Amino acid sequence: MTYELQEDQRQVQDLIRRVARERVAPRAQEIDRTAEYPHDMFALLKDLGLFTLPFPEVYGGANSMLSACVAIEELGRVCYNTAYLLLVQWVPFGAILAGGTEAQKQRLLPGLAAGEIRGAFSTTEAQSGSDVGSIRCRAVKVEGGYRINGAKIWCTNSDIADFVLVAAKYNDGDKDGISLFIIEKNAEGFTVGKKEDKIGARGVPSCPLFLDNVFVPDENLLGGGFRAVMEAFNASRPLIGARGVGLAQGAIDHAIEFITNRNAFGQSISEFQGIRWMLADMAIQTEAARNLVYRAASMVDACEPAAALAPVAAMAKCFATDTAMRVATDAVQMFGAAGVSSEYPINRYFRDAKVLQIIEGTNQIQRNIVANGLLGRPSRR
Ligand SMILES: Cc1cc2nc3c(=O)[nH]c(=O)nc-3n(C[C@H](O)[C@H](O)[C@H](O)COP(=O)(O)OP(=O)(O)OC[C@H]3O[C@@H](n4cnc5c(N)ncnc54)[C@H](O)[C@@H]3O)c2cc1C
Repeated sequence: MTYELQEDQRQVQDLIRRVARERVAPRAQEIDRTAEYPHDMFALLKDLGLFTLPFPEVYGGANSMLSACVAIEELGRVCYNTAYLLLVQWVPFGAILAGGTEAQKQRLLPGLAAGEIRGAFSTTEAQSGSDVGSIRCRAVKVEGGYRINGAKIWCTNSDIADFVLVAAKYNDGDKDGISLFIIEKNAEGFTVGKKEDKIGARGVPSCPLFLDNVFVPDENLLGGGFRAVMEAFNASRPLIGARGVGLAQGAIDHAIEFITNRNAFGQSISEFQGIRWMLADMAIQTEAARNLVYRAASMVDACEPAAALAPVAAMAKCFATDTAMRVATDAVQMFGAAGVSSEYPINRYFRDAKVLQIIEGTNQIQRNIVANGLLGRPSRR
């Protein structure tokens, strides 16, 4: 399988690289320091029309996961938080596209595509993160809809979002299942709590949610079900890998600048073999991660079957984000004491990389998906 970037993908890369360098990079440190949601960066992405990039042309997209990965990589190279803004818009879009009814698609997708509305996605609860099947949030059928009770944690974008896709258990006849419900921000009994004070991903808020007997009308039950949405997440997993690649590349960029300007023992530290080999290993791992991510993205674009895609997408997420952590750690080491000073950007890369190993299925869970694929087992655990 080949995954050469096509001319249009190179154009996306050139455009985003330039915008990232000129307009995003100068804001990156401040967004991290203040931990304030970057409305200006959201407006920039909106102006660039990037909110549908991976999705079909009918929504104004390029219908290309590879293009989306390239865009995320270029933004993530300079600012994790700005890259995250794209992803948090794409997650509810992808979920509704995969599991929404026609009416839900018509109601929500154009607004998400245009950046006129924002969404969030919530499964995680205090006692269940990886183990989604153990959620306790519950929906009960009532006249005309459902009543939902429970609490969620770590819901990213929720204090900005116009609606949240909330996973809840509900009894559909004879057995319990999980469904996603569209909960509008003003729904009575629905509260978004205080945002987490995080070490990384600081510019995009993650908050707890409280659902106290919230009424959700029938038309807000996501029609296609939870499984369809979870399968769609296999297809979006390369995007998290792309954030890892971008982060690693950004750490390398900063490292090169630092080591060429820092002297010790009468010469630039870039002349020391110990530093040069460390830099070479960082580049080798990042290039390998990039190739794996592009391959997984190309499999999505080629509509490869889920059984073939799932392990490769998991490998890409796991390897690229582990690479980001290793590369950022080595980059901090090259900076010496400056590496742990907030005066320099490199510790931001280190903190953001740690988040990538945890979100969207921890890297242990990704390894389980790979092993299950090898052993011919379907389970996610
Ligand atoms: C910045 C940030 C943003 C987030 N945004 C969202 C969001 O928008 N929506 C949302 O729903 N959630 C969100 N989350 C939550 C995230 O999805 C969970 O943190 C993640 O799924 C892990 O769950 P947990 O933290 O409960 O850890 P646990 O599942 O309790 O895992 C703890 C440890 O055990 C390991 N482990 C668990 N099960 C296994 C297993 N079967 N085999 C091997 N190891 C295992 C894990 O890998 C981990 O190392 C966010 C988290 C962060 C940090």
